[in-house]
Amino acid sequence: MTTSITEIFGSNVFNDKEMRDRLPKDTYKELQKTIKGGLPLNPKIAGAVAHAMKDWAIEKGATHFTHWFQPMTGVTAEKHDSFINPTDDGNVILNFSGKELIKGEPDASSFPNGGLRATFEARGYTTWDPTSYAFIKDGVLCIPTAFCSYGGEALDKKTPLLRSMQAINDQSLRILKLFGHDEVKSVKTTVGPEQEYFLVDQKYYEQRKDLIYTGRTLFGATCPKGQELEDHYFGTIKTRVQNFMKELNEELWKLGIYAKTEHNEVAPAQHELAPIFSTTNIATDHNQLTMEMMQRIAKKHGMVCLLHEKPFEGINGSGKHNNWSMSTDTGMNLLEPGETPYENAQFLVFLAAVIKAVDEHQDLLRLSVATAGNDHRLGANEAPPAVISIFLGDELTEVLEAIEKDEDYKGREKEVMTIGADVLARFKKDTTDRNRTSPFAFTGNKFEFRMPGSSSSISGCNITINAIVADVLKEFADTLEGAEDFEAAYHQLVKDTIKEHKRILFNGNGYDDHWVEQAVGRGLLNLKTTPDALPYFVKEENIELFMRHGIFTREEMVSRYEILTEDYTKIINIEAKTMVDMAKKDILPAASKYSSKLVQTVIDKKAIGLDTSYEMGVSQEIAAELQKAYIACQDLDTKVGILASIADFKAQADYVRDEILPAMDALRTPCDALERIVDAKCWPFPTYGKLLFGIQ
Ligand code: ADP
Ligand code: MG
Repeated sequence: MTTSITEIFGSNVFNDKEMRDRLPKDTYKELQKTIKGGLPLNPKIAGAVAHAMKDWAIEKGATHFTHWFQPMTGVTAEKHDSFINPTDDGNVILNFSGKELIKGEPDASSFPNGGLRATFEARGYTTWDPTSYAFIKDGVLCIPTAFCSYGGEALDKKTPLLRSMQAINDQSLRILKLFGHDEVKSVKTTVGPEQEYFLVDQKYYEQRKDLIYTGRTLFGATCPKGQELEDHYFGTIKTRVQNFMKELNEELWKLGIYAKTEHNEVAPAQHELAPIFSTTNIATDHNQLTMEMMQRIAKKHGMVCLLHEKPFEGINGSGKHNNWSMSTDTGMNLLEPGETPYENAQFLVFLAAVIKAVDEHQDLLRLSVATAGNDHRLGANEAPPAVISIFLGDELTEVLEAIEKDEDYKGREKEVMTIGADVLARFKKDTTDRNRTSPFAFTGNKFEFRMPGSSSSISGCNITINAIVADVLKEFADTLEGAEDFEAAYHQLVKDTIKEHKRILFNGNGYDDHWVEQAVGRGLLNLKTTPDALPYFVKEENIELFMRHGIFTREEMVSRYEILTEDYTKIINIEAKTMVDMAKKDILPAASKYSSKLVQTVIDKKAIGLDTSYEMGVSQEIAAELQKAYIACQDLDTKVGILASIADFKAQADYVRDEILPAMDALRTPCDALERIVDAKCWPFPTYGKLLFGIQ
């Protein structure tokens, strides 16, 4: 097995080994400057790279190529072109030019672009991101690309991510220089996203319009067994699921994705896959590919992979834990507490920067994970509340408290401690005491951001983390570079930062309701819904922050705000329409039909003098719920109509939150009540029981 894994690993990737083997030495070296050193690609070598890439792809059976990109739709996009070019004598040659590698021109007008629509032509450009390897998927050579408008505005999720990585690189290097690390040439952020998902049997899925149209169940009475026994978590994996995981792993390995751990999650039918971490833009590309492969391979096994944040009410939803850190080209993890006092001081400066960034920009972090789907999950019992806080663990918290108070750490001889002292020498990495309820937890040498939803690209939250940390590092570097006494200056800086931002530190149970109260008392933001959170994106200070680091232009931010807000409205509008459809065409007729059966039975029984209390009782219950459901359905239908008449996108989203969502709940309640009393054989679609426990 081991040999076969090493054989297949990366076999569909035009990776470093292939480049070294196939490119002329000079070309390879030149390309490395771009990949490793972040220099712009030398157009002179593009032709040679394209040629080698094409030969490799054709040997692997590829016939087409595509610029693979990540528009604002949430899924990846590709437009396939074949390598074929006609020759004069009526034959074909297989061609792929440097120009085709570097730049593509998909029609941009059919992708979401917010207000940017007005300012640019329909033409959009895709440009190769040479730091993310090309790969073959389904016989197509896929070239990871960024997607911009004619005017250079980003229309995708990769461009700003790359810009944010550049920002954090620039600012971290300034700090590292002060600590004497002249040898460090680049700093990259690293990410390991743990992906949760559900698997349901395809035959049940196909009978549910809600799953088909919206990815989640809009109706469904809870079944007698849920997740209360916690017997699924880390439990034995069912054979069918195991076969799926095996094939998924192999396909991911071929794509050079380090799929590492897999296990059952807390909810029945829920699972998780974690890769080994990599550079953020690659981790983001890989996570998109992972989600695509999960869905595709599940189908081959007669199952459907649900990536929605909350497919089932009353059952844990799915998230994506974004493990994040920063590391240098020399292999130093900047969030790893060091061995020497000086290294510890450096660690504390970077740690302080993250703490300040998270506290000052709770709004941006919160909105970076704000989607219609994730709103169901945040603050429920399986995910952090919508309040941001940081978990550091008791030991590290004590260290910071000691620094803040100029005390020595843990009862040592009292002396004014500088953070350059060996304060962290005895600080052990706290790996056992995990706090799984914290939205932003320090886990020894990285932070785990646990709020992102399972279906979203991790681009958004990483752009944000990179941007806000880069901004604080800039401020730190500005202060420290001007300091006469560097040691005294960073000591003061760390101390002041802790004092000012310790309100964001919370080691307790984040799922506890009291915490939300306490947090609000501390002045922390509690932005419960997506329409509450999104407007913060275009607050002037936030626009300035992203502009300061060249991550977004003002126009890009305004357009993204519009796209994200419209997304929220569109998603819930589809859900509402699906509910009306299912209620009108399936649920109400089924309940009515069943009740007329009961009524007929009553007539028959009465004719021969039998007791009819059961039939009468149930008929009455059905009649009562049917009436409620009918009224609620009419009401929701009316509101969907009103929504369509609202012109402003912000007003639409508010209307959805305030009127449509409550109307959806009002319709669901009587329909679920009907499901509980109507004969199972008459119910129009599979129950929660079948969906959650249907895979054997
Ligand atoms: P858990 O108990 O949450 O599964 P792990 O230690 O296994 O924790 O790590 C979870 C994820 O964190 C993995 O994807 C792993 O690769 C990633 N990870 C580990 N170190 C780093 C790092 N320095 N930067 C980013 N991600 C990391
Ligand atoms: Mg985790």
